[in-house]
Amino acid sequence: MNSTPTIRKTAEDLRVTPNFSDYEGERHRFSWAAAAAELGEEEGRINIASKAVDRHVAAGFADKPALRFLARHTSRQTLTYGQLAAQTNQFCNVLRSLGVAKGDRVFILTGRIPELYIALLGSLKFGAVVSPLFSAFGPEPIITRVNLGGATVLVTTDALFERKVGPWRARMPTLKHVLLVGEDGAPTCGPGNLDLPQLLSGASDSFDLPTTGPEDPALLHFTSGTTGTPKGAVHVHGAAVTHWVTGRYALDLHPEDSYWCTADPGWVTGTSYGIIAPLLHGVTSVVDREEFDAERWYSILRDESVSVWYTAPTAIRMLMRAGADVAAKYAFPHLRFIASVGEPLNPEAVCWGKDVLGLPIHDNWWQTETGGIMIANTPAFDIKPGSMGRPLPGVDAAIIQRTGDGGVNIVDEPGKQGELALRRGWPSMFRTYLNEDARYRKCFVGDWYLTGDLARRDADGYYWFVGRADDVIKSAGHLIGPFEVESALMEHPAVAEAGVIGKPDPVLGETIKAFISLNKGFEPDEALRMELLGHARKRLGAAVAPKEIAFVAHLPHTRSGKIMRRLLKARELGLAEGDTSTLEGAE
Ligand code: AMP
Repeated sequence: MNSTPTIRKTAEDLRVTPNFSDYEGERHRFSWAAAAAELGEEEGRINIASKAVDRHVAAGFADKPALRFLARHTSRQTLTYGQLAAQTNQFCNVLRSLGVAKGDRVFILTGRIPELYIALLGSLKFGAVVSPLFSAFGPEPIITRVNLGGATVLVTTDALFERKVGPWRARMPTLKHVLLVGEDGAPTCGPGNLDLPQLLSGASDSFDLPTTGPEDPALLHFTSGTTGTPKGAVHVHGAAVTHWVTGRYALDLHPEDSYWCTADPGWVTGTSYGIIAPLLHGVTSVVDREEFDAERWYSILRDESVSVWYTAPTAIRMLMRAGADVAAKYAFPHLRFIASVGEPLNPEAVCWGKDVLGLPIHDNWWQTETGGIMIANTPAFDIKPGSMGRPLPGVDAAIIQRTGDGGVNIVDEPGKQGELALRRGWPSMFRTYLNEDARYRKCFVGDWYLTGDLARRDADGYYWFVGRADDVIKSAGHLIGPFEVESALMEHPAVAEAGVIGKPDPVLGETIKAFISLNKGFEPDEALRMELLGHARKRLGAAVAPKEIAFVAHLPHTRSGKIMRRLLKARELGLAEGDTSTLEGAE
């Protein structure tokens, strides 16, 4: 682990003076209270959107481009900080006119269009709790989340409403208002739905901020566990301090940057680092509406003069697969910093960045619950390819082992594996799992938040990812709960039981494979396999549906009746089956 060569940065790599260079010194000097004061949190008041948008207008940057929207079939659209301030105010006035109250939940289900950004920041400014959903979800994940979150307002497009919401509206009883954006001109609004652009254009663009404090709920991000429904991680307005600080240390944002985060706001990275952090830093962000396409992505990096790029290992591996000759057609003179998150970044990918793009890739680590980057390869020290880097200033990490009596031991010995833990106290730490406080409390032992990831720390303080401590699946950077997939499969009349695992994939990290046992009267043939794949895709959406289905006579269970996914995985991969003493039928 320690023998991996580090990648030294040259002055040419860095091109600007990095935001920090003395890692130990900065860790020593840093305090969250001082950072909050620097961002302007005062007298217990802070609002993410006013810090991200209005603050720059007040400082004289109303005309600076904040967001540049790119799409294949429409021309490039820019929103300046001034326009964003005005339009988010209009959104607040729309919410007020609908009788929405502070703390009510606004859900957003759209592609990466301007209204997503206006509605999200407007909701934050208003003091509503906002939850952006991934627009590639099928109806089941949408219904589950809308109901768990008790959404009263949904912002979506007419086409998505028709395909994914309308037919199931009766199953979402908390929804009072659906605000539609037309995908092609004015939206076709059925009964009870409202035309959002029309409401916005009729609303005043000034709004008196309701007072939000650092502990007021702001964002709701759903994440997956091994069992049960998705978990709604609640984040507060004070989280802005983490977004701002980590934008400085881990992404090295400077006000003159042209920045591109490729993540969708339906996943936490696309909100924390696709919207909030860059705006807090007053940079210009690129937002591309389209999906991955190697030539398109290289053109964006070049044509938008992207200087800081935050992307994901799957995307990097897809670029690697497209070949160096594709990259060679483009030049990226402005690009100066690349970071990646979401899954392990293999050392070859770090080096590929250096060889093909001229820059190494800085892997960093965090998760929905942490709200912001915790561990990172930063400009202040050399990258060790394959490592997630070191804890940022303000973050205390440790490798721990759970003791039999419910406590934990901190593992000091370098190289020894354990669970990655973080000392509570950073501002973007989730404050609860919505309606599941007991599940939340179980994540903590004393001062330590246990992340569910297994890792090692080396003698230089770098952390190395080992794997997940549970059965959740990471496919193309998306965290997927096997239970949600199994439940959707079980709705099909042919399915008696389903067990779902992540199967290693060289590009996507993992793909989803389902093992299915059938009810009496159904034949395990190709036609049924195709039908089940189609059923899952329709209910769950392409990103969450299994790619592969295998029929089995019986699934392995524990004596208490739980499906042993671990065993399914070991058998699939030809690995040792490990401890099977709890297996049903074992002696
Ligand atoms: P999510 O909550 O969807 O952002 O997923 C968080 C999980 O993704 C983490 O708990 C890790 O299992 C994984 N993850 C995130 N970043 C990294 C990384 N740099 N290396 C390895 N795994 C990562």
